[in-house]
Amino acid sequence: MFTQKGLSRRGFVGGVATAVGYMTLKSPMDLLAEGIPRPRRLGIEGDDYDLLAKVNFNENPYGPTESVLKAMTQAFKYANRYGYPDGGIVDEIAKHHGVKPENIVLGAGSGEILDVMGSAFSSNGKKVVGVEPSYGFVYSHVESVRGDAITLPLTADYRQDIPALIHATKVHYRDVGFVYICNPNNPTGRIVTKQEIKQLLDAIPGDVPVLIDEAYFHFVEDSNYATSVPYVLEGRPVVVTRTFSKIAALAGMRLGYAITTPDIIDQMRPYISDSISSVVKWGGVAALKDTEAQASVKKITLDLRKKTTQELESLGYPVIPSEANFFMVGLKRPVKPVIEAFQKKAVLVGRPFPPMNEHLRVSIGTAEEMRRFMVAFKEIMATPA
Ligand code: PLP
Repeated sequence: MFTQKGLSRRGFVGGVATAVGYMTLKSPMDLLAEGIPRPRRLGIEGDDYDLLAKVNFNENPYGPTESVLKAMTQAFKYANRYGYPDGGIVDEIAKHHGVKPENIVLGAGSGEILDVMGSAFSSNGKKVVGVEPSYGFVYSHVESVRGDAITLPLTADYRQDIPALIHATKVHYRDVGFVYICNPNNPTGRIVTKQEIKQLLDAIPGDVPVLIDEAYFHFVEDSNYATSVPYVLEGRPVVVTRTFSKIAALAGMRLGYAITTPDIIDQMRPYISDSISSVVKWGGVAALKDTEAQASVKKITLDLRKKTTQELESLGYPVIPSEANFFMVGLKRPVKPVIEAFQKKAVLVGRPFPPMNEHLRVSIGTAEEMRRFMVAFKEIMATPA
């Protein structure tokens, strides 16, 4: 019913193919095949990088808003201090979610929190249970601390298989460190409904921590979706993670957080770096208040997603219905050569997500980036595989 699988660690070296008129730095497909490229490793600097259409990392292409930039600029005067004054970021986050400050722990990006969960709960033989494909860093970090990942396939309609996750958690109960739910899931963009979250939490043993990654929360429209923060207030061992990297466009500044019980925070604390720049803390406070700007980012993004996915479908390519700022399109041919062909056309698209080897993940960039994506897509797909 389920497969147990190890994932390669995140080790990854080298560069990526560049655009028309650029040089190929290293064998890009070898790099993309196994590793997870991050911008600092692309080997393309400054102005060259600016020229690429970047629909690969689910970033917010518009950048931080005026009020956030202003708050961060003013906070530069604290650059010589160790993370304080911090604008009251923890209190502001707590207020935002209707929880207490002792329910909040900050990370240098929510990615740090995901790693910390692995270190605190799934090291030395303990297992994380989740689906594949999902945000694979969770599994690779657990492996790096000598834990293991039990990864289950998605359902036929690319959703996280809640009954299978319940079954695997019960069967492996003694060895399970935590369950990982990515909601919406990266890379499919599909949600776990609020009913399914309840089904999962009610069915598994009450002491198994459940990490619910809500990185793309702000883009969801489906009324069957809800945050899992209320379960924290009920005292369940639920850890909800959020990030300022997506809707607030602060990916490079590194700020995320978890909302969970004080008891779980105590267990996480030894692994937390507590090393977040005071500048981004002030930016985060401003971002929490900037709901109008975020609503407009959401609207532009969802409008562009609709336009692009409709066009792809009219060309005969099925798109998985997404609730996030990215989507997956079925290519009906292997994805790796297609990714490479996009790179040659100065368009960076998502990496392969095995076992979905014929699907391409596309982030929603600006209107111009989506135009360049569509032009390249038509040219590439007009060429026989
Ligand atoms: N969770 C998911 C599902 C993601 O896609 C990402 C980044 O793309 C992260 C967490 C980590 O984001 P950050 O560390 O920037 O908060």
